[in-house]
Amino acid sequence: MNMSKRIRGLTGDEGDGWGVFYRARRMKLAGEPVTELTIGEHDIRTDPSILEAMHDAAKAGHTGYAMVPGVDALRDAVAGRVAERTGVPTTHDNVLITPGGQSALFASHHAVCDEGDIALYCDPYYATYPGTLRGVGAVATAIQTRPEEDFQPQAADIAAVAGDAVSLLINSPNNPTGVVYSRETMESIAGVCQKHDLWLISDEVYDTQVWEGEHISPRALPDMVERTLVVGSMSKSHAMTGSRVGWVIGPEEVISNLINLATHTTYGVPGYIQDAAVFALGQPELEEEVAAPFRRRREIVQRLVAGQNVVKAVPASGAMYVMLDIRATGLSGEDFANRLLDTHMIAVMPGESFGRAAAGHVRVAMTVADDALEAAFATLLDFANEVAR
Ligand code: PMP
Repeated sequence: MNMSKRIRGLTGDEGDGWGVFYRARRMKLAGEPVTELTIGEHDIRTDPSILEAMHDAAKAGHTGYAMVPGVDALRDAVAGRVAERTGVPTTHDNVLITPGGQSALFASHHAVCDEGDIALYCDPYYATYPGTLRGVGAVATAIQTRPEEDFQPQAADIAAVAGDAVSLLINSPNNPTGVVYSRETMESIAGVCQKHDLWLISDEVYDTQVWEGEHISPRALPDMVERTLVVGSMSKSHAMTGSRVGWVIGPEEVISNLINLATHTTYGVPGYIQDAAVFALGQPELEEEVAAPFRRRREIVQRLVAGQNVVKAVPASGAMYVMLDIRATGLSGEDFANRLLDTHMIAVMPGESFGRAAAGHVRVAMTVADDALEAAFATLLDFANEVAR
């Protein structure tokens, strides 16, 4: 029996370099002391107070079908938060609650792309992007960014392919690079979207983790509110990866169509999880606690990198990652990661697993305790310096 092209197309030919990740996982399962600096998941769990709110809501009976667009209290809380942070008037009619940011990314593209439409995204990219775009029938087209421009997308590169495209997906703070797009970058992206009539889909799931500069939501730039869909999530901000709660923010007409999509796909997010999310959003100190370790660890990384000159760090301004330029070792990102795993039991992600633009780099997730990160990082730098000699 044949399966659809759409489902078979979810995995493309990108994604080289994930072999290191799976190998590290197998070694760890076999009991080897591997330090995993690979995936973007916190080393802490969801705060007990959030779990209590979840428990109380479930016990109180919020276990039936919840409102498909999201419960009013959560839609209001998200709208209020966005309005406060960006100054853009936002009501619950601009908000759809989704099972996580991943589902919001799919829904957003589903809303704006027809079969065969060109949907743009920036390379390096979060691993699921091209598959998500293909999953709605779009032709996923990468725009290369460059290490010498700190991986900030350039308007001219977008404009060169924008004429035939319908949407552009951006992500700041960025996974995998840790880069926060500057105001200049955001304004130039907005300009291209207006000139070429593109939808802008802005993945802002790391917006509470900004260490330097400011987070700019392009929805707040002049004349962007009607063409921008913002993807958000509680996963990274509140260490709630397993709760699967996120959102799409956009024009009312898009949201009302997306409610239709939700009716026919997810049928909403569990009510007790939404109640816990309302509770969590009401306690600003919780997201500060979740962000604090990454701010500290980034300083450790910067101090260690400054003590040698073989490995260069891409300026990590946000998110939980640091991207290292290891081209001076003469190795590819993949060879570097494989050799580091074999010789020192430290697992990092090859830049090549995030696209072509990050070749010759490795991404380090700062998701282990400070002292373990410091030790592993020092070893990584020694290894790089030995290889370079
Ligand atoms: N966007 C980016 C850039 C991510 O890194 C992730 C998760 N790693 C997601 C979206 C999806 O996260 P979730 O579905 O857990 O909200």
